[in-house]
Amino acid sequence: MRFDVLTLFPELIESHMSFSIMKRAVEDGIIEVHTVDPRDYTLDKHRKVDDTPYGGGAGMVLAPQPYVDCYEGVNKLDNSITIMMTPQGEPYNDKIANELAQYNQIIILCGHYEGFDERIREIIKPREISIGDYVLTGGELPALCLIDSVSRKIDGTLGKIESARDDSFSDGLLEYPQYTKPREYRGLKVPEVLLNGNHKLIEEFRMEQKIVRTKTKRPDLWEKWRGK
Ligand code: SAM
Repeated sequence: MRFDVLTLFPELIESHMSFSIMKRAVEDGIIEVHTVDPRDYTLDKHRKVDDTPYGGGAGMVLAPQPYVDCYEGVNKLDNSITIMMTPQGEPYNDKIANELAQYNQIIILCGHYEGFDERIREIIKPREISIGDYVLTGGELPALCLIDSVSRKIDGTLGKIESARDDSFSDGLLEYPQYTKPREYRGLKVPEVLLNGNHKLIEEFRMEQKIVRTKTKRPDLWEKWRGK
């Protein structure tokens, strides 16, 4: 899986890729993350990539020329998809992460300031994705959410010790509660059933807990799961 990220702040993307599981996935050749800066494509002699909005209003809008030229300069592989990070996009979730994990290449457009000139959308025609109904200063954190969550779906990213199989959302429910050593901490004990080595009972306990948690914390998911 190859990610190509169009961003004015490549270091934000690169820094996340230098730690922990993501770092190992890159080193093991499971994912490749490349950044490309639209500023390197601007024809403006002052290297500007934005300008004031027509019609007035606060802030700066990302100009079409640097973004479109930068996008056209990205080498497209077979089975590639282009995503624009925008609060106006479809809400991101685990189902979309699974879908995206089927591609060989994901090209991601990160906005900044007041966002993209509309013609960038019209020319590139990306799939638009939002990571939630709130507005961040830039598309780099949303892009990292997408890269991280999609990478976890790719075989080899998670080692034996980390597994996505039981993660929340994988079967529509939230994950069961987890415990580690010690057996007792500040008077709180690990449930007895997890200590007796009876795998059938452990499975049953975990399933019950998944249901209780989902019902309480995410009634919307519970209703969906029940209706399946
Ligand atoms: N003026 C835009 C609007 O109201 O729709 C918001 C622009 S935002 C300040 C700047 C950039 O951050 C966006 O172009 C987008 O790339 C990114 N961004 C901010 N919030 C986001 C979200 N919830 N999901 C995805 N991207 C987001």
